[in-house]
Amino acid sequence: MSRLAVVCGGSRGVGRAVSRLLAQRGCRLVVVSRRDDAARAAVAELHGADHKAFSCDISKGEEVQKTFEMIQRMCGNISYLVNAAGINRDALLVRTKPEDMISLLHTNLLGSMLTCRAALRSMLHMQGAAVVNIGSVVGLKGNAGQCVYSASKAALEGFTRSLAKEVASRNVRVNLVAPGFIHTDMTAGLREEDRARAVPLARFGTPEEVAQAVLFLLEASYVTGQVLVVDGGLQLVM
Ligand code: NAP
Repeated sequence: MSRLAVVCGGSRGVGRAVSRLLAQRGCRLVVVSRRDDAARAAVAELHGADHKAFSCDISKGEEVQKTFEMIQRMCGNISYLVNAAGINRDALLVRTKPEDMISLLHTNLLGSMLTCRAALRSMLHMQGAAVVNIGSVVGLKGNAGQCVYSASKAALEGFTRSLAKEVASRNVRVNLVAPGFIHTDMTAGLREEDRARAVPLARFGTPEEVAQAVLFLLEASYVTGQVLVVDGGLQLVM
């Protein structure tokens, strides 16, 4: 039986590219996002058969638990979990609404913790099981106008390293990919010609370039608790 990969945030952007690449590699995909129609549209374009879409808000504990129980019942044990669901609410701290702080932390940090918690028991049964969380280069370096977003991503790095230690003895690996500017809906409001000047490779990355890094970490059988930066060299000059 082919490996089952769950991609949270698989309906758009980085998660959608990861889903496409894993399906090309012969995985069975479960695409999770809040919007059912978007998750189904992503599944419809995947290579091969037997893929499924689930709608779930990963920031809600009970919903996550129920969704993952259903995934396991309908699709079997999970080999790969990719946490690519995320939001941004860029603003200076003094202009950030408390409710936006909560949404950011609940989606970007708590959401990935909840999906890992819900998936892990199932993953312990599988050889070569692996989690990849998607952080951000601003979680490593900080950025004005992204205090809460970068805090959520920095904490996700700590969570990734700790969980990697916790489950290594059970042969589950946990790593993090930290992208820079990537062409997705999240960066659609940014002008590449302005922002890319700061990037040593002088352009935004593509979701497919991030997906390649995710695939590497899912398959890298002797790598755990690591951060792989995919940012065109941005962190070198931040
Ligand atoms: P995107 O194009 O906006 O896609 C976000 C995905 O997350 C969508 O599938 C969305 O689907 C899903 N999602 C959002 N909130 C959710 C929730 N509460 N529950 C379930 N699914 C949810 O974003 P992206 O650029 O691909 O970003 C992917 C990850 O990379 C994020 O963690 C982001 O922070 C990180 N990242 C992105 C960049 C960049 O430049 N794009 C840079 C660094 C890091 P629904 O709306 O249907 O729920």
